[in-house]
Amino acid sequence: MERDPELSSQSLVCTGCGCLCDDIEAEFEGSCVVSIGNACAKGATYLRSAYDPGRRARSLVRGREVPIDEAVEEATRLLSKASRPVVFGLDDSTIEAQVAGIELARKLGAVIDDASSFSFGSLIEGIVGGELPTCPLAEVRDNADLLVYWGSDPPHTHPRHISKFTYYAYTDWDPAGWYPRVTLSCVDVRETELCSMARKNFKVRPGSDRDFIRAVIGEAQDETGQAAAFLETVKQSKFCALFPGAGLVCSLGDDLACFKQMVHVLGQSTRVTVVPMIAESNMLGFNRSLHEQCGHVNQVSFASGVSRSTEYSFLAQVRNRTSDCVLVVGADPFSALPQSLLKNLQGTAVICLDPFVTATTMVAEVVIPTAVPGLEQGGSVMRVDGERLALANPAEGRYPTDVTILERITKRIA
Ligand code: SF4
Repeated sequence: MERDPELSSQSLVCTGCGCLCDDIEAEFEGSCVVSIGNACAKGATYLRSAYDPGRRARSLVRGREVPIDEAVEEATRLLSKASRPVVFGLDDSTIEAQVAGIELARKLGAVIDDASSFSFGSLIEGIVGGELPTCPLAEVRDNADLLVYWGSDPPHTHPRHISKFTYYAYTDWDPAGWYPRVTLSCVDVRETELCSMARKNFKVRPGSDRDFIRAVIGEAQDETGQAAAFLETVKQSKFCALFPGAGLVCSLGDDLACFKQMVHVLGQSTRVTVVPMIAESNMLGFNRSLHEQCGHVNQVSFASGVSRSTEYSFLAQVRNRTSDCVLVVGADPFSALPQSLLKNLQGTAVICLDPFVTATTMVAEVVIPTAVPGLEQGGSVMRVDGERLALANPAEGRYPTDVTILERITKRIA
């Protein structure tokens, strides 16, 4: 069949989740996507929604549509007069935008924090600080003989994780061709889609991951025998890849000492690596960028030099009604956090930069629409295993990038 000369092909990195699949094949007519190959339904919907005008954020000041320059001007004015500004988000932005956001927070003397503060922050801190071992997913594939998904269900959260990076990506299968030569396993509080595929399932009661871990390392009683069975499974492996998900980190909270100890104990019998199942496309990039600049992964205040404290977490700032102006970049706290908490933001100026309409853009005083990373803006991002990837920008120019907006605001702040 003859190829339409008006069409052009482009390889993309999908920024729809933490997998950052780098094998997306898209066809464009001008800057408009006409077909998307290799993406999962979630990723394809995300990329297509960039062309749905109803889904895209519009430039607004207190609900009135305005030119983008006017929205930037108003955002600058609100941030300039704020005495306790907060910058929050950036987990779905490029590393370049994250660096620009940190620079703006520094110039404002603001608090800066991201969603890792109430999810993967402590785990990422352990990885960045070298307390927890990690490695590229390419090293896991074909080499790890035990995959343990803990409190995560990738078919729902990271649809291509097991097909592109782990279980189904193995080239070494049993002689009948039925199963990859690797043991798929999960630790969870409920029956998930992954549990139905896994060869070994370990059940924990909701909220009792810590008790399970303590039983694995011999610090608590193993009432069900599950912890002993888990320990034996890991001991029999040569290379165990642990994939901790939101279920585990929410169950453990900020105190990951027992998890770190368990990884250390298991590491004495076999090789263990930890790759977090982060949903946001570039949370690791933000945490590493902030760590490089300040030595901390989140909850930083630039009000007087650099300081870090739980009182600078976004949750504490909202709970204590500390801030008088919040700049949200590529995040949606108004859908992620309880309304009982968010009502504390009444009277606080909220500015939101986002490519899409969200619960936060619907209440923000100022909304500035931005380009979709990997489609309308290039730059770089960091996958959950620490691999840095470059983004293409075949539809560049449709919207301003968040880097440009953040740099413009920074230049105008006196
Ligand atoms: S798994 Fe994630 S990154 Fe990969 S195509 Fe789906 S949404 Fe995009």
